[in-house]
Amino acid sequence: MTVDEGQPGYARHAVEVFAEELDEFLAAVMAEAGEHADPADLTGLDEPFERRVLGTAGTRGMLGIGLPDEVPAGPWLRAAFDFAVAAHDAPLVDTAVTLAGFSVAAFANEEQHAFFLPRMTGGELTMCVAYSEREAGSDLRALSATAVEEGGGYVLSGVKTLVTGAHKADWCCTVARTGPLGSAAMTMFLVDMAAPGVRVVRRPTMNGWTLDEVHFDAVRLPPGAVLGEPGRAWRQLAAALRAERSGMFHLGFARHALDGLRRHLRETGGGDPVSRDAFAALEVDFTAGVRLACRALSADRGSSDAVAQASMAKVFATELLQRIAQEATEAAGHQGMIHAPLFAPEPAPAAAGGRFAWEYLERVHGTIGAGANELQRDTIAQAGLGLPTARRK
Ligand SMILES: Cc1cc2nc3c(=O)[nH]c(=O)nc-3n(C[C@H](O)[C@H](O)[C@H](O)COP(=O)(O)OP(=O)(O)OC[C@H]3O[C@@H](n4cnc5c(N)ncnc54)[C@H](O)[C@@H]3O)c2cc1C
Repeated sequence: MTVDEGQPGYARHAVEVFAEELDEFLAAVMAEAGEHADPADLTGLDEPFERRVLGTAGTRGMLGIGLPDEVPAGPWLRAAFDFAVAAHDAPLVDTAVTLAGFSVAAFANEEQHAFFLPRMTGGELTMCVAYSEREAGSDLRALSATAVEEGGGYVLSGVKTLVTGAHKADWCCTVARTGPLGSAAMTMFLVDMAAPGVRVVRRPTMNGWTLDEVHFDAVRLPPGAVLGEPGRAWRQLAAALRAERSGMFHLGFARHALDGLRRHLRETGGGDPVSRDAFAALEVDFTAGVRLACRALSADRGSSDAVAQASMAKVFATELLQRIAQEATEAAGHQGMIHAPLFAPEPAPAAAGGRFAWEYLERVHGTIGAGANELQRDTIAQAGLGLPTARRK
């Protein structure tokens, strides 16, 4: 991380050392990435390479370092991890520990802890999260997947959509309705992706990658598949989604994109006055974004201030990323329109090798995923500014 404002003294040294080690490690492994391109896959790299990077990071103790209560500086170390991984385009953000790790660490029972955590943090086991459904995205209370108790376990049925990396995940953390009444009747489950009745359908996204549909066709789950308390998924989900929102990995992507824009402007004679002005303003906003993220990390965990700060950091970072992508394509003119996949073996005959157009398409989702920005602004109004709950029509 580039700004340490608000870091407690005990965290500062640990974060600096960790960030330096990560930078060195990621620069070395990503130097080989070009030989492992798989443009249609999530992260743009082939799965064996991803698994190798994951395994090495696990062996070096870099994964899951900020999971709840593990170490006092945990959230700062995790933020440093998120930032560095994104800034290096490394394939460690999605299906490794980041998404499901918080829920497993926070809500697993002793047996689940003993099985999953060492494997996840060791980089041996990947886990996707499958919450969203076609009619239940922002409003997860509308979900229709069901888990019906039977023979001491459950039978899980339903279809999850827009799942990141399900086609290569070993396990899945999901949520289903276990009773008829609203949010009080939702339960989280851990599902083996190799279990009979689990089927994954890959759907192409606009930047050429895939998101997955996960079909649960009467999947039989043992009683030990419940994660946390039956019927308490709503609260668990809220905590897990908040943990995704420091915004640091968006800022890592922003750093990468701004460096690309700076290179482009330098190589093309410094840019016209409008592009230079916009670029400088984006750098100012990047610094503000890092400060917002640090403020969110410093807020008292569990307080309504922390909730509002996390939402502010997420909104600012995801909108900044879109503005950078927009400015880069505009600064490059028609050369900014040519798209090339990430890690393309041959650079495209375009500005930044086609990266600007790729960024433009890729960064759309940040303002929608992990709680749409409209909902985050509502949270800021309520938890941060003390306004009453919004009236729903
Ligand atoms: C790249 C990507 C990866 C994803 N990965 C995963 C994953 O791994 N696992 C998973 O479970 N899901 C995943 N999702 C799904 C993601 O969580 C949902 O897209 C998100 O919850 C929004 O749901 P929705 O797409 O159904 O949009 P909707 O809920 O239909 O919302 C669409 C838009 O309507 C507006 N809106 C909605 N509700 C309100 C409101 N109350 N007030 C004001 N405006 C509102 C917002 O502008 C919002 O962006 C992913 C999505 C993307 C794009």
